[in-house]
Amino acid sequence: MAASRKKTLKFKTEVSQLLQLMIHSLYSNKEIFLRELISNASDACDKLRFQALSKKSLLKDDTELRIEVAFDAEAKTITVRDNGIGMTEEDLKNNIGTIAKSGTAEFLSSLSGDKAKDANLIGQFGVGFYSSFIIAEKVEIFTRHAGAKKGAGIRWESAGEESFSINEIDYDRRGTEVVLHLREGEEEFLNDWRLRSIVNKYSDHITLPIKMLEQASAEEGEEAPEPTWETINSATALWTKPKRNVKKQQYIDFYKHVSGDFEEPLSWTHNHVEGKQQYISLLYIPTKAPFDLNEPVQRQGIKLYIQRVFVMEDTEKLMPRYLRFVRGLVDSSDLPLNVSREILQDNRLIQSIRSASIKKVLGLLENMAKKDVDKFETFWKTFGPTLKEGPVEDFANREQILKLLRFSSSHDDVQDEKITLDDYIGRMQPGQEKIFYITADSFSAAKNSPHLEIFRKKGIEVLLMSDRVDEWLMGQVNEYDGKQFQSVAKGELDLDDIATKKGKKEKKVKLDDDLLKSIKTSLEDKVEEVKVSERLTTSPSCIVLNEHDMALYMQQLMQQAGQDIPVSKPVLEINPGHDILKKMADEKDQENLSEWSQLLLDQAILCEGGRLEDPAGAVARMNRLMMS
Ligand code: ADP
Ligand code: MG
Repeated sequence: MAASRKKTLKFKTEVSQLLQLMIHSLYSNKEIFLRELISNASDACDKLRFQALSKKSLLKDDTELRIEVAFDAEAKTITVRDNGIGMTEEDLKNNIGTIAKSGTAEFLSSLSGDKAKDANLIGQFGVGFYSSFIIAEKVEIFTRHAGAKKGAGIRWESAGEESFSINEIDYDRRGTEVVLHLREGEEEFLNDWRLRSIVNKYSDHITLPIKMLEQASAEEGEEAPEPTWETINSATALWTKPKRNVKKQQYIDFYKHVSGDFEEPLSWTHNHVEGKQQYISLLYIPTKAPFDLNEPVQRQGIKLYIQRVFVMEDTEKLMPRYLRFVRGLVDSSDLPLNVSREILQDNRLIQSIRSASIKKVLGLLENMAKKDVDKFETFWKTFGPTLKEGPVEDFANREQILKLLRFSSSHDDVQDEKITLDDYIGRMQPGQEKIFYITADSFSAAKNSPHLEIFRKKGIEVLLMSDRVDEWLMGQVNEYDGKQFQSVAKGELDLDDIATKKGKKEKKVKLDDDLLKSIKTSLEDKVEEVKVSERLTTSPSCIVLNEHDMALYMQQLMQQAGQDIPVSKPVLEINPGHDILKKMADEKDQENLSEWSQLLLDQAILCEGGRLEDPAGAVARMNRLMMS
């Protein structure tokens, strides 16, 4: 190999950081390096096979795509070789020398330093090629892109610390060869049986043949025969097998392969669909959220195969945003092999696979909710907020998704998000027609809101919602099962038709007209109106927003994010039965009355998670009133 000038380049800081971390965290799980390298080799062959559909010349006469694993006990190296697409110098720099993964910095900052926990996180992040450095002190890559001239290869080398080097070499093979120079003490991997069993454990489902040299033992005195490559995996696409022929463990291993996740999946659904169109889908729900769940674009998605050929990976075309955590694949027998992303955009077949797959996933969740409550709880804790985007995004399945949502309830003391809308409806009071809820920026703010007082008193259940998405969700969804949603903090309340627990109406304490007038005058520019409340039993005052206004805590979040939102003045409701109001009725000093009025408004705003315009002024006022 005639080597050219060598270029040394530095890894981005995150890479060195990640490498160090991985070496420490994955120490007890070193063998996964082989799974990762084989998975990359398999991806590279998939890419070549797909590109060769439209450009036959890429394959040349080397048409049997395969992966080879070899080792050299003397040189202490392990080699994983493929005849796939290969890499250009740019590819090497972009894909191997940097981390193109969005959210890397956030990921690194989320690490705790606790090795066990971090190892888990790294699993979700997907370690990929870098896992080589767990056992290798030096890694070399020899590669030639399928489109490059014969001989025009590139060598990449790194000790995984700070830098890597790249130089041009004379290299005839197509594809990529990764050579690991093992660290001192990692000799256990220089063993035929060991390597075979790792392949068996993690990579049996790879659809390409994985080959190793046959271990021919020579008789003494005889010359050893030329060793031959033998295929050591079953090399059939797992998803094409009938369900009954696939073992649970095989499904789990396959999940780890398609998702890059270390954890076992929570559940899956495998379907062979025949009829108007033929396709297979194998869809998994992960146990843990991927690190980029809330990034604008996700790195992983659903893989699309056409007649067993991997075509592309894409989430949005096969799953809606609210199911972006679903992993797996769809293999269609009807789509043309030369599809492009653009064609897929409005393809009828894709649309129908997509809607059927959504149904499958929702069905899987429904079933889980019925048959395995604990599992569903795990799902809900991880993906509940994501699923809540569904009723807005997917109108066609709105009811079915709403049925899956879980809520905390004013009937419970703790936040356990176990109530379904059907549970709620089943417990509605006679005469109750609406589903009452409250949104707040924390569970305790919701639970202790003054707005719940009358509902508690009457024994009417209120759903307590405190996820970020809740306010938005409830702003978009009007009803479930023919029952309207009604925020207890917004608009008029009419509970008169609901039979109350005690069955009798309380007699109302009247508010002195002059006092009401005086409060109104004091707060003239700040509130739309001051009213005697029907909602309060123990608090002196509360804010009531317009039916269509955003909750105060949300208004503030939006404003902080620089959004201009129209804000209408709230209504202040007061409770004439409260001692403060009684005290105010006896107060003759106008100045003091105005201070008390302001205090009523301030505390109502605070209870809503709102922010006071002049907190210091409010505190001074409160102190004055306490001392007077
Ligand atoms: P991932 O496989 O999740 O993308 P990896 O770290 O395993 O992450 O690999 C990074 C990238 O390097 C791959 O996406 C691919 O572009 C490139 N790569 C790695 N191995 C190979 C290979 N054997 N052939 C071609 N490209 C490869
Ligand atoms: Mg990979």
